[in-house]
Amino acid sequence: MSEHPKRRERLIQQIVSEGIDAVLVSNPVNVTYLTGFTGDSSHLVVSAAKTVLISDGRFTEQLAEECPGLECHIRPPSQPVIEASAQVLGSLGVAKVGVESGHLTIANFESLKEKLRTVAWKLGGDRVERLRQTKDDGEVAAIRRAIRVAQTAFTMFRAMLRPADTEKELADSLEMYTRRAGGDEGAFPSIVAVGARAALPHAPPTPRRVSEASLTLIDWGASAGGYKSDLTRVLFPHNNAGILGANGVVPSKLVEPKLREVYAVVLRAQLKAIAAIRPGVKTGAVDAAARGVIEEAGYGDYFTHSTGHGIGLQIHEAPFLRAGFEQLLEPGMVVTVEPGIYLPGVAGIRIEDDVLVTPNGSEVLTSVPKDLETCIHEF
Ligand code: ZN
Ligand code: ZN
Repeated sequence: MSEHPKRRERLIQQIVSEGIDAVLVSNPVNVTYLTGFTGDSSHLVVSAAKTVLISDGRFTEQLAEECPGLECHIRPPSQPVIEASAQVLGSLGVAKVGVESGHLTIANFESLKEKLRTVAWKLGGDRVERLRQTKDDGEVAAIRRAIRVAQTAFTMFRAMLRPADTEKELADSLEMYTRRAGGDEGAFPSIVAVGARAALPHAPPTPRRVSEASLTLIDWGASAGGYKSDLTRVLFPHNNAGILGANGVVPSKLVEPKLREVYAVVLRAQLKAIAAIRPGVKTGAVDAAARGVIEEAGYGDYFTHSTGHGIGLQIHEAPFLRAGFEQLLEPGMVVTVEPGIYLPGVAGIRIEDDVLVTPNGSEVLTSVPKDLETCIHEF
């Protein structure tokens, strides 16, 4: 059995356990996950008896390519997708139907209720999202590929990095390297942040130049075959390459003492969080592992976000490594681990890797070096 029917099988078990007859899947990412279809404007009805993809004539050929054998209902251009979905649900004679309350708009829900007056509706925010949390082998392979692409793009990025480059130029060229390395596109708009700009965890790129500060933060990822990768590294650009070896200066001494200290704290926090990852551990405990190191070093107030998030078809998806979260890690989950310290007006340092939860522990899937010496970038 290919992976998509298996995924639908897991959803059907969920439907049965909830005591409902069918689910209307309206979130396009979830439709892709369950069918392999990558187009939009399409819904999926899943019931124990039947699965029907509701789409339109623009996608007939793509549907045949991407999900052969799947029953499709092709609506006419004049019929909105929600009405076609109501029609399919009506024809199945289902009495209790689940909807994706995290995605379906109120207007569309009203329209469903209007068209199917006898149906009892059950809201559910994360039925398919919960299935998506644990990746099957094909998905892990796809994430590994998205990581390879991102890492190749970063090698090109470092090879081409020049002091006069601006954040904007670098973010744009990273997108190009990602595509050239075999990615479909960047997993999200890359963050390239020079000096104090790096204190903004999601800094939009500006005309600031690499040469204007002693540090550049890069947060990037690739989308390949629909799956995403997500990494962050900080580079310390330096242009005394020729002198270095001659006078025997230890490269790490080139980084300002304060930044060196903060970098060491973030790296320690990240390694501690990674070491905490294994099945059965609470997601909140992984956050606590990173946060504990940063708090102990006196920078607790400057770590202003969660430790990590799941990656897959989306760049941010469950599970989330957040303070106090009780959810347990399971084999097959892939999460980022990305603690950071942000000193307003000075700089920000974040280190981010992607980690697979394995049956016995974890595997760090990303392999861009992160010890301070390797992040000193000599022009
Ligand atoms: Zn990131
Ligand atoms: Zn991230």
